[in-house]
Amino acid sequence: MTTADQYLSTRGDASSADFSDALLRGIAPDGGLYMPQAWPCLSEAAQGTTDYRAIGRAVLAPFIGGALPASALDAALDHLAGGFDDPLVTPLVELEPGLFVLELFRGPTAAFKDLAMQLVGSLTDAALTASGERLTILTATSGDTGAAAVNACAGKDRVRLVVLHPLDRVSPVQRRQMTTTQADNVLNLAVRGDFDDCQRLVKALLAHEDLRAQGRLSSVNSINWARLAGQIPYYVSATAQLGQAATFVVPTGNFGDAFAGIAAQRMGLPANGFVAAVNQNDALARAINNGVYARKPARESASVSMDVQAPSNFERLIFEATGRDADRTRDLFEAFARDGEVTFDAGLLRSLRAQVSAHSIDEARTREEIAYAWKTWNRVVCPHTAVALGVARTLDRSAGPIVALSTAHPSKFGDVVSEVLGFEPEPAPVIKALGDRPERLSVIDGTVEAALSSIKAFTGSPT
Ligand SMILES: *Cc1c(COP(=O)(O)O)cnc(C)c1O
Repeated sequence: MTTADQYLSTRGDASSADFSDALLRGIAPDGGLYMPQAWPCLSEAAQGTTDYRAIGRAVLAPFIGGALPASALDAALDHLAGGFDDPLVTPLVELEPGLFVLELFRGPTAAFKDLAMQLVGSLTDAALTASGERLTILTATSGDTGAAAVNACAGKDRVRLVVLHPLDRVSPVQRRQMTTTQADNVLNLAVRGDFDDCQRLVKALLAHEDLRAQGRLSSVNSINWARLAGQIPYYVSATAQLGQAATFVVPTGNFGDAFAGIAAQRMGLPANGFVAAVNQNDALARAINNGVYARKPARESASVSMDVQAPSNFERLIFEATGRDADRTRDLFEAFARDGEVTFDAGLLRSLRAQVSAHSIDEARTREEIAYAWKTWNRVVCPHTAVALGVARTLDRSAGPIVALSTAHPSKFGDVVSEVLGFEPEPAPVIKALGDRPERLSVIDGTVEAALSSIKAFTGSPT
């Protein structure tokens, strides 16, 4: 029998994993991504309410099963809701008839990563307490993930967190959100290099014998199943707030946010469709629109958190679109890794397009959308939200309402916004609260040796 609380890999390894295994491992041993064996049905209890905790409990309990006590999920949801400054957690705001934004930035670091990361922090602690283990988490960040992870993991007894960010290439607000923590279990490494260098280092470190010998290692990037699951509830909440099915437009980088919406639909949430809005880094849009998935170097954009040309969660979409054919999924992604390009056949393309459509918004349009939102709705939006609105405004509303996901508070990206509007956005309260607390970080060269020696000094010390 297949159940939602047991996990398999998109590349075929069927050795069983429960929710805690998927959470603490991050990636499956065969290099694939974890997926539940079956999609659970969204209960009536989940759909009849706008109470975020009740929705979260109904959505997530079937994925957790017996792996963690129910009290751990309740505590995680209480902690999450308590850190958001709106009683709905993710309030829906109407811009004009038929066009809405879903505000996902009302949490402790003012970007949507908080929604999943706050849950992952609490649930990881619960899983480690149950097993008596400790865990070192390594993560590379272009800004938002690191900030959310630091906030979620600071002070957790059983977790050590190492965040690698590219030196001088995250915004000052993002850096301070990471480096002003006073918690001793967090190490911030500023790497001389770019985001890809950080990602390459994390990959090498996760596989490094010396570190593995020191204890359990994992990552909290968006391929972690628990992060994906933690993003499903807000689609359910948005639909309940609206009282009807919507088309969701999702500003997309690694495709985790958008895939969570597709997961909600698989579980029975009525939805009219999903549209991935990407910036000038348009590998996903080209794959879905032309049938050729080809890697190109990522170019820096105003919507930096979406500067991705090989979206990691695309593998989950392909797995679903092939009817969960792990052999085909593995062949496609091995060919992509080897050749940098794969072509989809007509059948696969049809089934991809049945799940999602995709559009690219260039840099000039992104800036125009920031200006348009201010002029038309008196609303200051971040560049990621602007990309989503650029697509959302072109969609036909006669079939039902359009919901654009708003993924960050504009003050996190004040430089771009003030360039366009001529004034600095009012800082989010959580950003104001950072004040001028002292920062702690180590600047390192982008080599495995440099990272390793900093991490060894950190993990070797008693916490
Ligand atoms: C991470 C991020 C995105 C992209 O989300 P994915 O799940 O990677 O597609 C969009 N906007 C902001 C502000 C982000 O931090």
